[in-house]
Amino acid sequence: MTLPIPAFADIRACFDTIANRSHQGIAGVEVFDSGKPGPTVGITMLTHGNEPSGLAPYWYYTQVEPLLPKLQNGKVVFVLSNIDAARRYFALPADATLEDRINTRGIALNMNRLPHNILSLTGDTRSEVARVQELAPLWETFDVGLDIHSTSLDSAPMIVGHPAVKAELIKGFPIDVILSGISDIMNLKPAFTFYGSQHAASTHLLIETGSHENPLSFQRAIECTQALLANMGMLEQVFADKAEPMEYILYEVTSSLFFPNESYRTTEIFPNFAPVTKGQILAAGDGEPLVAEHDGHALMCFATGKPPSLTEEALFLSQPVQTLRL
Ligand SMILES: [Zn+2]
Repeated sequence: MTLPIPAFADIRACFDTIANRSHQGIAGVEVFDSGKPGPTVGITMLTHGNEPSGLAPYWYYTQVEPLLPKLQNGKVVFVLSNIDAARRYFALPADATLEDRINTRGIALNMNRLPHNILSLTGDTRSEVARVQELAPLWETFDVGLDIHSTSLDSAPMIVGHPAVKAELIKGFPIDVILSGISDIMNLKPAFTFYGSQHAASTHLLIETGSHENPLSFQRAIECTQALLANMGMLEQVFADKAEPMEYILYEVTSSLFFPNESYRTTEIFPNFAPVTKGQILAAGDGEPLVAEHDGHALMCFATGKPPSLTEEALFLSQPVQTLRL
């Protein structure tokens, strides 16, 4: 079965639709409730305002194959996470520069780099702080959450798990790269690490579907959502049923680099998964050079050679790649 792929105009129209929905007074949320007992699955999108692929499953389940008649149990909660940043992204003129586009990733904070104590901050009016505090009670209810992202460069799609990737959840995902351990070593926390706190054993997924406005990214987002809902027993098995055990490429993230001061830059713009060797100088500046603690691969290096803030990792290092059969 070939899935239809939304055009960008469809994605934009879906943004307008969900931005105007609300649930329990929270804007940008739409819940599909089967009315039968079962899991609560959160499908979260636009955690970064310039990453529209998460709207594709919402388009699919509202415009192509209405979800509710097919939903066998539980409920599916679609959440437009960084609604203010996404509004800026969709308001960009056609000739917006790359920098203008990157600036719509977040307003005051990167929603994937949140301080631990964000839920206890008081009187903090920063856009993302207010939004996270508003969404947290809903996030807490997720048995499983799928946070859908995309990348500025055309990088291989990948799956990130928190606290780990559960094999039974990702059967049928059209992605074979898994990143593990990254949320554990992060200083500031990705939004999806706040999901499911009412459920001690819950696990959550983040997917990077490909580059931002690529139709393939839209298609992957739909396929992953469909497979996850089937894997959760909420939809008839469409893709997951015929999924054979698959070989995955696993990068276990075990260290990261922080810059000691603003003068530092990475010694090159490392492409994702670039091999590095123990002792290799990865960054230099006014002070000691920063070297790789172990052999492995560089991940999430910034195109500018430095993170937007010294509180953010300049890059992550994984162990040498392994294969994993699930
Ligand atoms: Zn993202």
